[in-house]
Amino acid sequence: MLNLYVMNTETIFVDLILPVPIMQLFTYRVPVELEGQVMVGQRVVVEFGKSRTVTAVIAHIHNTPPEAYKAKYIGDLLDTKPSVTLTQLWMFKWVADYYMCSIGEVFNVVLPAGLKINSMSKAQVHPEFENLDDLNENERLVFEHLKSADSLSFEDIGKVLNAQNPSAVIKGLVSKHAIIIFEEVSEKFKPKTEKRIRLKRVYQGTEEVLNLIDVLEKYQKQQELLLRYLSFVPLHELASNNEKGITKKELIGEAGSESALKTLMKNGVFEDWTEAISRFGGFELNHTEVYLSEAQRRASADIFREFKTNNVVLFRGITGSGKTEVYVDLIQQVISSGSQALLLLPEIALTTQIVSRLQKIFGKGIGVYHSKFSDNERVEVWEGVLSGEIQFVVGVRSAVFLPFKDLGIIIVDEEHEASYKQFDPAPRYHARDMAIVLSQKIGCKVLLGSATPSLDTYYHAKNGKFGLVELLERYGEATLPEINLVNISKERQEKKLSLDFSDSLIEGIRDNLSKNEQSILFLNRRGYAPYMSCKVCDWIGRCEQCSVSLTYHLRTNKLICHYCGFNAHIPKQCPQCKSPNIGTIGTGTEKIEDDLKTLLPQAKVLRMDLDTTRSKTAYQDIIEGFEKGDVDVLVGTQMISKGLDFEKVSLVGVMYADSMINFPDFRAPERAFQLITQVAGRAGRRKLAGKVVIQTANPDNKTLKFIKESDYVGFYENEILDREKFNYPPFTRLIQVIFKDTFQDVAFKAGAIFTEIVAEKLGRSRVLGPEKALVERVRNRYIFEVLIKLEKDKINMAATKTFLSEVKNEVLSDKKLKTVQVIFNVDAV
Ligand code: ADP
Ligand code: ZN
Ligand code: ZN
Repeated sequence: MLNLYVMNTETIFVDLILPVPIMQLFTYRVPVELEGQVMVGQRVVVEFGKSRTVTAVIAHIHNTPPEAYKAKYIGDLLDTKPSVTLTQLWMFKWVADYYMCSIGEVFNVVLPAGLKINSMSKAQVHPEFENLDDLNENERLVFEHLKSADSLSFEDIGKVLNAQNPSAVIKGLVSKHAIIIFEEVSEKFKPKTEKRIRLKRVYQGTEEVLNLIDVLEKYQKQQELLLRYLSFVPLHELASNNEKGITKKELIGEAGSESALKTLMKNGVFEDWTEAISRFGGFELNHTEVYLSEAQRRASADIFREFKTNNVVLFRGITGSGKTEVYVDLIQQVISSGSQALLLLPEIALTTQIVSRLQKIFGKGIGVYHSKFSDNERVEVWEGVLSGEIQFVVGVRSAVFLPFKDLGIIIVDEEHEASYKQFDPAPRYHARDMAIVLSQKIGCKVLLGSATPSLDTYYHAKNGKFGLVELLERYGEATLPEINLVNISKERQEKKLSLDFSDSLIEGIRDNLSKNEQSILFLNRRGYAPYMSCKVCDWIGRCEQCSVSLTYHLRTNKLICHYCGFNAHIPKQCPQCKSPNIGTIGTGTEKIEDDLKTLLPQAKVLRMDLDTTRSKTAYQDIIEGFEKGDVDVLVGTQMISKGLDFEKVSLVGVMYADSMINFPDFRAPERAFQLITQVAGRAGRRKLAGKVVIQTANPDNKTLKFIKESDYVGFYENEILDREKFNYPPFTRLIQVIFKDTFQDVAFKAGAIFTEIVAEKLGRSRVLGPEKALVERVRNRYIFEVLIKLEKDKINMAATKTFLSEVKNEVLSDKKLKTVQVIFNVDAV
């Protein structure tokens, strides 16, 4: 009896994940009136610090008051049902432990800003909201202000309400879909809209319409337009069909007269209005049938068989083998069994083309998740995935954290891509590895697809840790392209180069122009030239804040630092010796574009790199333009290397292979092999035979020879020996530790002491450094790196990570070193 009494009066506490980089959960108290409502995974608004309001999520519910501090009360609950699933909570914790960061940092990156109300939030009206009657007085007050104000900050809304904490009102408006929350101005939601036209109501009856046709007898253009309208909108069946009208585009069509429509509207026959278009249509399965080739069918069956005994299967299919079709086949089967599917892509540039290919098959119900979408769109995908309404998501790395209701399969396309690893900010996670970890937890299947698997993945597949399925022929009549290495140093000596082009490359492009076929040129450097220098005194334009040269950009006519964004005007004379004789050294994508215009003035050239793809639709515009065939040559950086599929590309040129091959990193050969093989794979994907020209100063390089022979296995067998010999992955795990400070000696000292302590415990041979980073100073901060190599079978990883964190704290406890920023990058790539 007594016990029961105690239980009933016990206070309820919740442990919350707050979006802050602090290594702990925070305990808050639940007020009596909310006691029956709290659930793990719900979002809740709380005060944090003196004046900050943040959105947190409930991780535990219990009765133990915190020892160290007096618990504050939670504010409003934002959800009636959890927005964050138990699986997600588990993932947050796993990521924080494994990647050595705080759980709050994980939460902050995973949760879209639209699901977080905080002091930084801004609000805008939801463009589709109509039911003003649903709003209470305060909500209506804020809504009316927002309508005239475009957007308001959290603080502004407080002022409108004359209240310190407006979160309850904001919550009400969000849950009624009256407003949208966003954080960055760039994330403000711009709905897609269309103009629609309909007949004024007085004309929609049959008699009135017939009358109208008569009246317009003398105005032929107007009568045509009316008849056209009637052919789209069957008023004779039902007068109210008029309500929805048709789009202005449809009504005008190819031949309709804009001015006739204007007149009809002026005379009150038609009216128009603007309507927002929803991005998610219905899910239509099997819209277009996919017929697999014999080889693809075999691969698909093999994958299914492998999945019986493995959660993870590597699917190595050469470029152009039709991996996407095999994915589609798997996804269809998963979806029709009622589960959800996730397709991860390494880069946004890729989603455009693949999503439009997939929409032809799956309809418009695909959830697309990446940062070029507004925050509101991300919230829609989040909610759709949670409710199970969205069955199929295509996204970049962060999509692996979505709250799937019943995830059946994750397909990681181009699994070898380094862009699956996040670097800044924390959590520095790897989406492919997360997918694998998730499969162990929830039992979903993971398919890793690539023409050039990472050495680690292939090693695991060869050793039975993953299943392995290979598809080694191109689809249809296509064959692998013929690859030629051109010795560019020799051609330069023999004066055979025209600007940066070897004879065979420029001839190839010219030949393609005459045959109306397309070419792709790859160069992994944007801008016009990487250096601007003085021909007299050897002055070179350098960044003031970073230890790199400034890149000359022709279009903006500026010198720009690619590390910090610093930019300067082009000097008219040398800042050092005043000579006017200054010029550029080296080549970037802008220069290739320009040189082509000089060498082949008749060629239409398009460039795709970071500089030309800043806007939301830029990728799509460039890719569509190239697809339509308006363009002869596409010049680009690694963005053009992956996944893109163009029918008429028969020539690929790699401008300089050497910078990739000679890069000082143990993964350079692997990277070069993958990147060049992928670019080469854009050529000859259908009926046209493909040709690849690789310009290099080292045609005898081993990696290039394997590329030329398209010999992945040969390359792997050769490279894996080096990895074993020098103790690199997959034989070890790497933890990179980065030390940054405004003073070089301070950063170095922190690194040196850290290394000393760690080496003593782990052994000198496991710890390398501290070494200057490749770019040793960025934004005025000096960078040193330490690399720790840990053998998987000998080292207890969890204990070692705890130890490393302790050493970090110890180093930072020295007063002279406390300004140093120490970053752990687990499984650095
Ligand atoms: P990969 O991703 O393996 O490089 P893709 O999936 O892009 O190759 O396929 C290459 C090309 O072949 C694409 O244009 C694709 O539409 C076509 N293709 C592949 N398989 C089929 C198929 N079964 N039916 C029709 N077209 C196919
Ligand atoms: Zn000079
Ligand atoms: Zn800089």
